[in-house]
Amino acid sequence: MKKILLSFPLMFIVSLVYAQDVSVNYANSITSDDLKSHLEILASDALEGRETGERGQKMAAAYIKHQFRTDGLEPLVATECGASYLQTFDLVTMNMANSWIKVDEKSYTNFKDFIYAGTNSFKAPQKSKLVFVGEGSAADFNAIPIKGKNVLLYCDGDQADRDKVAKAAKNAGAIHVFIVPDTEAKFKEALGKYKLYGSGRLRFPIKEEELSSPYFVISPTMGVEILNTKEDKVQSALEKSKHGKYASLIKIKSQEITFNIHYDVNHIPTENVLGIIPGTDKKDEYIIVTAHYDHIGKDGDEINNGADDDGSGTSAVLEMAQAFAHAKADGHGPRRSVIFMTVSGEEKGLLGSNYYVTHPVIPLESTITNLNIDMIGRIDPAHESNPNYVYLIGSDKLSTTLHKVSKQINAKYSGLELDYTYNADNDPNRFYYRSDHYNFAKNNIPVIFYFNGTHADYHKPTDTVEKIDFELLEKRTRLIFHTAWEIANREGRITVDVIQEKSN
Ligand SMILES: [Zn+2]
Repeated sequence: MKKILLSFPLMFIVSLVYAQDVSVNYANSITSDDLKSHLEILASDALEGRETGERGQKMAAAYIKHQFRTDGLEPLVATECGASYLQTFDLVTMNMANSWIKVDEKSYTNFKDFIYAGTNSFKAPQKSKLVFVGEGSAADFNAIPIKGKNVLLYCDGDQADRDKVAKAAKNAGAIHVFIVPDTEAKFKEALGKYKLYGSGRLRFPIKEEELSSPYFVISPTMGVEILNTKEDKVQSALEKSKHGKYASLIKIKSQEITFNIHYDVNHIPTENVLGIIPGTDKKDEYIIVTAHYDHIGKDGDEINNGADDDGSGTSAVLEMAQAFAHAKADGHGPRRSVIFMTVSGEEKGLLGSNYYVTHPVIPLESTITNLNIDMIGRIDPAHESNPNYVYLIGSDKLSTTLHKVSKQINAKYSGLELDYTYNADNDPNRFYYRSDHYNFAKNNIPVIFYFNGTHADYHKPTDTVEKIDFELLEKRTRLIFHTAWEIANREGRITVDVIQEKSN
């Protein structure tokens, strides 16, 4: 009896030590060899630079999904055909295919001579004279009937002012609104502002109702040509209309113009790939570990393999997922649930993570931490003589506990130099805002962003597998693994305790 009683505390100590060692065992299953074999596939020429929506990205998605399934992660995206590892979402490109304005045989081109600030194609070209309605003030709309008409007006403000006056004109019954900025310089400036409409850039589809109100912006030269008059006549008519005298304004009659807007819209579906290791007693709290698996595709015949960016992070996620899965299978599963997600569309503007946080598969309130990895396989020029490092960004921005835990775990298991250079609020590179974790941070979820810094091969065809330092990749991945393990298993939940000043 006595003997057994004595051994109780001993057993407790032994089990504590064991519990501590157990994470090391699984961390040790993350090896440079395994990381390399993942990366040799993800960053191979066959995957063609993993351009969002293209064949190579789909092949990478299939590979990641296969790994998650084989390792025993559970799918958690609800679809009509049951739970899936893929969170598919639609992106589009819109190109101005057939968009022009013709005035008396002279043809004007969209995004050169004018801008159509809208995303809807017309069913057919339209023909019309425009009603000159001054500067589009309430008094102007009162004085000049525009119901059912296409109108032309002058606006010397910026995009917000144009949005506003276009809306007011439509509320007053106008159909199409043609807005002339008061100088050519302002028109040129406006040209740069509406690039998304028809630029051919990959992005989320714009719903018509999200647009304030489509309208045309035309150059002052073109405005005068449409009005078939001279600049000084227009200016004097505008001046008089401000004092309630509309006679000279009404006297200015536009020519008949023909115009057409037609976009070629390409729908490009893409997918985030995610799987979960369900937790035990704290399973309703979630940690999400992310890396983007898309890259920038090809430049002509040259393939941007994106071995470091972000094949390194993707390989790290695969290895960590497997380590957690093995731990769970052995009865050492995490107390909290851990989601592993590789996202698409990062290179196009953090689109995959943006889609996830607007369509989360589990509530964001229950997502307690995001560990994001974007480039951890290389050494930047600043650390050539001391490569035992990793940059950490964001760890103290929302949670002092997370920051502390991250440091403690590194001291205990990894001994890397944690470089906080890029974490400074005034850092000109603004890396905090430039990878997927930011979409989580924006939603008040504490984040750590792991990063090796930039290098000469960044976004170049020379970002290849043979330049990766796999020993270092292994070491950094193990640090992130231990950090995730601690956050998942510790008694206290990581909480937000830093008041963030709104910054942009
Ligand atoms: Zn990247």
